[in-house]
Amino acid sequence: MRGVILSKPCRNAEAKGSKRCMAVGQVYSQVHCVPYDLSVQCQCKLQSCRSHISNYNGINLRNTQRRHSTQRLEEAYKKIKAKCQSKKLPKDVNPKAVFACNELDLKEVNVYGFDYDYTLACYKPSMDYVLYNLGRQILIERFKYPLEISQLEYKPGFAVRGLHYDIGKGVLLKLDSFLQIQFGSVYKGLKPLSVDEVLKLYKNRIIPIAHVEGHSKNASDFNQAKMVQLADLFSVPEMGLLCNVADYFERNHIDYHPEILFRDVKSSVKSSHPLMHKIVSENVSEYIESNEKLRPFFDRLKNSNKKLFLVTNSPYKFVNKGMEMLVGKDWKEYFDVLIVQARKPRFFTDVSRPIRVYDEQSGSHIWDRVTKLEKGVIYYEGTVKQLQDLTGWRGHQVLYFGDHPYSDLADVTLEHGWRTGAIINELTHEIATLNNVEFKKNANWLQMLTQLIEDHQDCEDPDEQKVLQKWMAERDKLRNDIKVVFNPQFGSVFRTYHNPTYFSRRLFRFADIYTSNITNLLNYSVKHTFYPRRGVMPHEYISYFV
Ligand SMILES: [Mg+2]
Repeated sequence: MRGVILSKPCRNAEAKGSKRCMAVGQVYSQVHCVPYDLSVQCQCKLQSCRSHISNYNGINLRNTQRRHSTQRLEEAYKKIKAKCQSKKLPKDVNPKAVFACNELDLKEVNVYGFDYDYTLACYKPSMDYVLYNLGRQILIERFKYPLEISQLEYKPGFAVRGLHYDIGKGVLLKLDSFLQIQFGSVYKGLKPLSVDEVLKLYKNRIIPIAHVEGHSKNASDFNQAKMVQLADLFSVPEMGLLCNVADYFERNHIDYHPEILFRDVKSSVKSSHPLMHKIVSENVSEYIESNEKLRPFFDRLKNSNKKLFLVTNSPYKFVNKGMEMLVGKDWKEYFDVLIVQARKPRFFTDVSRPIRVYDEQSGSHIWDRVTKLEKGVIYYEGTVKQLQDLTGWRGHQVLYFGDHPYSDLADVTLEHGWRTGAIINELTHEIATLNNVEFKKNANWLQMLTQLIEDHQDCEDPDEQKVLQKWMAERDKLRNDIKVVFNPQFGSVFRTYHNPTYFSRRLFRFADIYTSNITNLLNYSVKHTFYPRRGVMPHEYISYFV
């Protein structure tokens, strides 16, 4: 091919001397003149250009053009890949930071309230084994499940919290904030279901809100929930037992009702708690992570004249053993009010249930009417109304910490205007994963590749479509790569492939702040204001990496 000088120097061309044809907008080098689209006749006034085009015909010309059209995509890919590789990776996130969903000024907080389990006391993985083994034993002894299930061992790391269990279909799955099923994270027993199997079961990728939250637009449909969310850390071994037993039934072709199995497992694990309390109390250091910062944390709050209270569902003796190990024998000195066996969330929702006194010496309950709350006395049951009425602690001066977004945080913030903090232990693993260099590179490239696909998807040419399909396959692999590093089955607690999970939407709604451990607050003064960041909305999107 002979070269031709086109009408105008190209502004974009990297090679010096390249030109842009004014008619078709295509860039040509001086030695190659091939129009981009056959339907557009090159309008260059230069005779040499016309005569050059006229030399092309038939297949040769089309092949050359196709080569050039896919070449256009390949060049775009190379360019964006080079750009991605040249980008600086984001800085590491501090795993001990406190994150704000809502502005919170600690100067306004005079009263600090705490849940106990997984808020003050963080349990070691050994706790999961205890609950699993006790639950399995009760399934066999009380509910007469086959003896063979005693061989089913706990599989650590199988489930994450925040999953939904479909009590009708016997499926454990992960939902995003739009109630969409995350494909690839749907399990029947221990077996993952394919996309086709999921669509066959649900006919849709979106679950109706009435099935998830138990209500719909029609009042008569109230309490139609078919999904149960497993939102606390005690439910992780419960999910493990549920899936192991379901898998046993499936493998052995034993007919079972998923709802009966679910209720039996739940009941077994729940009724194992008194036994678990006894086992843990006898050897607390085996089950509870020590935290030498907890006492300094309480010291700082007391030195700043803050009031402290504890509202926990656990019994006194169990809490006492753990707190003695975590804080010291005198731990009760830090608390102005202690309420055990509170039966949350009813503690926050019931209007009438008397608060009562527990006698530590005799280990029994006292029938006296409670007219004031005294330091050093152990109370049980009651309601948040009595706590507020007897102390005068109200509204935004109270900051309550819990690990359960619903039973600890939802009602106190929605009904009583308390400020709320969530303790989410999984953040330690989640942030360590986010900080991994390979993860950052993959997440970065996923964003840019997605943009590339979106920009070029409308091409009609079959060869170009093949290139697009190749890009889509690469995107699918990337999405899976950055999912499985969190958890091979269910991915991150906080995200589906790209959307927030159902769990994180609720968490962000009910928690003003959240962090991995209560003592991370020591990194901030008691006058600190936590400011939420201006998050990027889709219409404000300017960066490839958010
Ligand atoms: Mg708790």
